[in-house]
Amino acid sequence: MENSQLWAGVRFAAIMISGLLTLLLLLGLLLRWTGGYAPGWILRCTSCGHTGDASKAGIIRIGARSWGKRIVGHCSQCGGWALSLERRTNDTSSLDR
Ligand SMILES: [Zn+2]
Repeated sequence: MENSQLWAGVRFAAIMISGLLTLLLLLGLLLRWTGGYAPGWILRCTSCGHTGDASKAGIIRIGARSWGKRIVGHCSQCGGWALSLERRTNDTSSLDR
């Protein structure tokens, strides 16, 4: 009697854990599918206005969101350390100033 209850508990725990793992896996796939890894985002130096591709800098969107779009990064043009992350607009000409 007690033994079967124990196994029921173990089975329940196993189902919960595997469910959680599946959820994490799906979340990872979702991130990849929706372009969670950076395309569409640019880095802009707050000192000189120099812009660069966020994906080249290895910035991921999720982290940037939690940091409030203001990140610490190194500007290759002026050597500053304050960069802001911005959504890339369809108007690409504004990036080449
Ligand atoms: Zn700069």
